[in-house]
Amino acid sequence: MQVTGTVLKLSDVSYRWPGRWAFSLTVPALTVKAGEAVLLLGESGSGKSTLLSLICGTIPPNEGAINIAGTDLAKLSGGVRDRFRAEQIGVIFQQFNLLPFGSVVDNVLLPLHFAPKRRKRAGDAVAEATNLCKALGLPRDIIYAKANKLSVGQQQRVAVARALIGQPPLIIADEPTSALDADSQATFLELLFAQTAAHNTSLLMVSHDQRLSKQFDRVVCMEDIAQVKRIAA
Ligand code: ADP
Ligand code: MG
Repeated sequence: MQVTGTVLKLSDVSYRWPGRWAFSLTVPALTVKAGEAVLLLGESGSGKSTLLSLICGTIPPNEGAINIAGTDLAKLSGGVRDRFRAEQIGVIFQQFNLLPFGSVVDNVLLPLHFAPKRRKRAGDAVAEATNLCKALGLPRDIIYAKANKLSVGQQQRVAVARALIGQPPLIIADEPTSALDADSQATFLELLFAQTAAHNTSLLMVSHDQRLSKQFDRVVCMEDIAQVKRIAA
């Protein structure tokens, strides 16, 4: 889906995990524009995954506003927010979160079950899933294999195809290359960027590896955009 202007905008967001007073995260401002690929760097424990959960709307901020493709997440009730997330955001989790007994195609099609507009955009969804898998370098005969039979590199490609199907305007990726060696990382990012560039999709990817920086339009560091309070127990 083509969104122009700003795809993601955070204003004065703050969050504390319930019952955990030792950590708090404040992000005064963060924006991602349409088509922009942004790398968010930060050390382990600096709140990167927490920030992505806030952006995905799986946890609500204590204060501040998170706007995605022109919609303030706080204005959506639980079920509506879940559908909104499925429509607007393709998520690549650190552990990929594939259904182990589902086939490659089942896994790629999964977000479309919750996102009717995204399903419509995918057209012939099985054909679209097959094309994406091919573009991402998965062998054709693998698409009906169970996810738990795949190598890590193949699982990663399936997770990317699942995030991209139906062209959500924003892809969020949480350290998706952490299990790969340097060569595989570069290849993986090239395949991902080829797909996001073709559809003017925005990408916000989190990593602690600054060697990835040169492949992105913009690099932001947690220590520059966020105030993190960590109190030793
Ligand atoms: P990063 O992704 O940068 O490694 P996280 O966002 O995972 O950082 O963690 C930041 C802090 O939030 C840590 O202190 C972590 O223990 C805490 N945290 C993360 N997830 C949860 C959770 N589900 N419940 C409670 N605390 C959490
Ligand atoms: Mg993390």
